[in-house]
Amino acid sequence: MSSTRAQGQDRLRISEVFYSLQGESRTVGWPTVFIRLTGCPLRCNYCDTEYAFQGGEWMSLEQIISQTADFNPHYITVTGGEPLAQKNCLPLLEQLCDAAYAVSLETSGALDIAGVDARVSIVMDLKTPSSGEESKNYYLNIAKLKPSDQLKFVLADRADYDWACLKLNEYDLPQRCEVLFSPVQGQLSATDLADWILADRLPVRMQIQLHKLLWGDEKGR
Ligand code: SF4
Repeated sequence: MSSTRAQGQDRLRISEVFYSLQGESRTVGWPTVFIRLTGCPLRCNYCDTEYAFQGGEWMSLEQIISQTADFNPHYITVTGGEPLAQKNCLPLLEQLCDAAYAVSLETSGALDIAGVDARVSIVMDLKTPSSGEESKNYYLNIAKLKPSDQLKFVLADRADYDWACLKLNEYDLPQRCEVLFSPVQGQLSATDLADWILADRLPVRMQIQLHKLLWGDEKGR
């Protein structure tokens, strides 16, 4: 990470920029540059990136894009924390798209996605009851999802699963975009989740976090 402190208004607080395999979503397994923005207004019970709540370093958009280009990637994921909590996330996304990268944005679902560049594939959470942050869901976002976006449920137990099934029907989610179901590692058996999805004939994609299978909770992976 650059040691030069970014000046001016076109900057973001960045926790890390790193190159790894995409661990989840539609592009799972593809080499990807991750740009992790610092800060999040939520405190999910299962959060695995608490180190990104604070710290990091101010970087100009130019510095971020230059550092990203060093990896010569095709896929870029902007993540957090909650990236949309910093307003300059929007011009960063736009500039990455202008540079012809395939860009995705991981967001909690608590903040408005309206300003996100239409070329970005948004991977948006709906926070389940066990997260402790269900009340933060900004449900007006659902109507703004595009067919190329993805909606993710992170599930810790059967009650979360049943809640997610209700939301699938209530908002007709599979008709809007791809829906992802993911178990919280160490809390919900992936096998149980797979069996429930099959038993209920759900039109959702199950995923297991690939990077955790490969590298555990190692930072920057
Ligand atoms: S929204 Fe994401 S980064 Fe923020 S507390 Fe929840 S899991 Fe952690």
